[in-house]
This record gives sequence, structure tokens and C-alpha cells, in this order.
Amino acid sequence: MTARRRFNRVLLKLSGESLMGTGQYGIDPATVERIAVEVKLARDAGFQICLVVGGGNIFRGLAAAAKGFDRASADYMGMLATVMNALAVQNALEHMGVETRVQSAIPMASVCEPYIRRRAVRHMEKGRIVIFAAGTGNPFFTTDTAAALRAAEMGCDALLKGTQVDGVYTADPKKDPTARRYETLSFNKVLADNLQVLDASAVALCRDNRIPIVVFSIHEHGNLARVLEGTGTATIISNDA
Ligand code: UDP
Repeated sequence: MTARRRFNRVLLKLSGESLMGTGQYGIDPATVERIAVEVKLARDAGFQICLVVGGGNIFRGLAAAAKGFDRASADYMGMLATVMNALAVQNALEHMGVETRVQSAIPMASVCEPYIRRRAVRHMEKGRIVIFAAGTGNPFFTTDTAAALRAAEMGCDALLKGTQVDGVYTADPKKDPTARRYETLSFNKVLADNLQVLDASAVALCRDNRIPIVVFSIHEHGNLARVLEGTGTATIISNDA
């Protein structure tokens, strides 16, 4: 494979579901530990990394609203779920000796730091992994949008989306043997074809701020560090494709 550009500072979006392992709900400590190993490997290779964690493994506002919950209240519950996930990821990283800070968009003084952009940048410069929790702090948003927003605010070179497969395919590779992985894609194709990579608002925010989205497998050992070096298997979504 030909080398692509190297990224220096990135935001990694982890969905809540990526922390479930083979379970249907909640947090699987072994899975969280495996992901933490990937993040540590990349940090040790000299990359600056921040994380946004989702909450779909615990609570989704939209699903609860469909069952009769008030949507805004349900979304606040979803945001609180992301804080639990952030603490789980922090715990796994700190067990490996990696310094971290959790910053929440909803202030929770006795649990973690509030979100302060300049302080988060400083943490990253010192080699700490910053984990952003509570999404954007606003109902009616998702953690995908929070990831795009924080990537822009932190001056990241790329937004990385760790998934179960190693990129974006022409069809579901688990069902269609002829499915082909895209090496590159344009933001406009992702939006026009409604490819389910990230929420449309997150994709548009990345496009407007010229932040490439890198879709790769978080479950392949060492792949995160390789993708950051420009060699691992991934699909790169950008303005240039
Ligand atoms: N959420 C929200 N505002 C945000 C981010 C998240 O209201 O800025 C709520 C929303 O209810 C969402 C839940 O938090 O369903 C969990 O986040 P998300 O569904 O994005 O998690 P993921 O799919 O990444 O696990």
C-alpha cells in the first residue's frame, strides 16, 4: 500500500457500541482495555490524541423519545451515559500508565473537568489523552457532531472513526462478497449517497472546516497507529477526493 499523509493531532470517535464487546448492552471491560491498548500504542508513537465517546451502549435519546420520554430529557440522559463510558475508558488508560483527563460539556465538578478548550489543548501538548464527555452539552445533537466540533476546536488534522470494518464499502462486506472498499471518498459523495459513516451534520462540519474523516477498524491490533502514520487500511473522506 502506498503511504498517505501522516497525521499529528487527531480526534478519535468511539461509539458506545464499540465498548459493548459481544454483549447487547453496557460496557465490556476486556473490550475497553483492548481499545485502550490501541490508543496507548498511538500515543507512545508520538501522536496527540483526544477522544469523543458515545453513549448508545447505555442510552439513546431518540429511542427513549419513541417510547414516550420527553426528547430533551432523554437526550440529557444519553449525554450522562457518555460520561460513564468516558470514565471507563479513562480507567483503562490510567491502568496502563497513560495520563488522561476527562472533560465534560455538562459541568460535573466532582467527577471530571469542565470542557475548557485551551486547557484541553494544553493537556494534549503534554501528552495526555483528553476524553470529551457529554457530547456537545445540547439535546437534539449526537456525539458524531460533538466529535466534528471538538476536532475543529482542537485544531485536529483528522477525525478518526473506529468501526467494526476497515473502511467504507460499496455494499455490506458481511453480506455481499463483491463489496469493495473505497480508498478515498469525497464529503459530497458521502452526503449525496447518504453513506452511514457519521451523521450528516458531522460530515458537513468536517467538510466546511476541511477536516478529513478517516474510517478504519479499531479492532485490528496496531491499526490505529499505522493509520496515523499513513500506512494502515482505511477509507479517507476529504475535500480532495
Ligand atoms: N446526546 C445529545 N447531545 C449531544 C450528544 C449526545 O443529546 O451533543 C445524547 C443523545 O440522546 C444520544 C446519546 O446522547 O442518543 C448518546 O450519544 P450517541 O447516540 O451519539 O452515541 P453513539 O451512537 O456514538 O454510541
